[in-house]
Amino acid sequence: MAEDWTLVIHGGAGVIERERMTPERDGAVRRALHEALAAGSAILERGGTSLDAVAAAVRVLEDDPNFNAGRGAVFTAEGANELDAAIMDGRTRAAGAVAGVTATRNPISLARAVMDRSGHVMLIGDGADAFSRSQGLEQAGPEWFATPERREQLERWRAAQQAGLPQSGLAFDPDHKFGTVGAVARDRAGNLAAATSTGGVTGKRWGRVGDAPLIGAGTYADATCAVSATGAGEFYIRMNVAHEICARVRLSGEPVQQAADAVQAETLQLGGSGGVIGLTADGEAAFSFNTPGMYRGVARQGDAAMVAVYGDE
Ligand code: ASP
Repeated sequence: MAEDWTLVIHGGAGVIERERMTPERDGAVRRALHEALAAGSAILERGGTSLDAVAAAVRVLEDDPNFNAGRGAVFTAEGANELDAAIMDGRTRAAGAVAGVTATRNPISLARAVMDRSGHVMLIGDGADAFSRSQGLEQAGPEWFATPERREQLERWRAAQQAGLPQSGLAFDPDHKFGTVGAVARDRAGNLAAATSTGGVTGKRWGRVGDAPLIGAGTYADATCAVSATGAGEFYIRMNVAHEICARVRLSGEPVQQAADAVQAETLQLGGSGGVIGLTADGEAAFSFNTPGMYRGVARQGDAAMVAVYGDE
């Protein structure tokens, strides 16, 4: 057991229902989840670190336009893509995060560079983009991130705003369909890591930052537990969801599934729906979501990788 590795990923939680999905989209999402698992698993299989594995898995999903991270990120009210990401090393509790970046192809790579090379934990906006250039990370223009589907979502959001229609659940997103991506992993040495990357929510403004890049809210890892969240960020921030789950596991020895379900229930009581993935140093994995679906997957040493989309899978 001590030398087993595990990788758990998500591609967002929300109103993901069979009736609303085309077979093409269903297939494309599952393929992308498998690809992300394969990228991370290859690193873990050859004895690489959980930190490298979560970053590799997240990069695949950032590049895939089906997810709300990197390419395919949702639009702000002004029609821009502003990206948030974070990564954390459970072994050392080193962490790196970025918020509101607009020009780095893979925000998770920038978060990793912040952790490894900036002497800080979190950089935002233009400063983070400048740091990215100084580190020689691959840059991308607005046309790389923008997709027609996300533009349509923005138009629907604008129309709803104008009509003054009440919007269910999250204050911003008419589809309540997320797509943030994240990964948690345990490597052969038993070390954990977590990573999360997102475009945030459609129609965000005023430099809004969600939970994903906030260490403890959407992303957290220590020696015992790692968590990546995807949900209504305003509520996940206030509940400090990722840290809260890990604290319960670390301090009381609670099974991670039970801790995740309990914290998710409390967050929902405040009004915040969504999902989390969790993993312990023993290789115990958890998926917890209170939305109709969550894009998700798991790979373990020696087992076939599994992916799922809907709540009943
Ligand atoms: N948690 C993200 C945010 O609030 C949204 C999501 O997970 O879809 O920025």
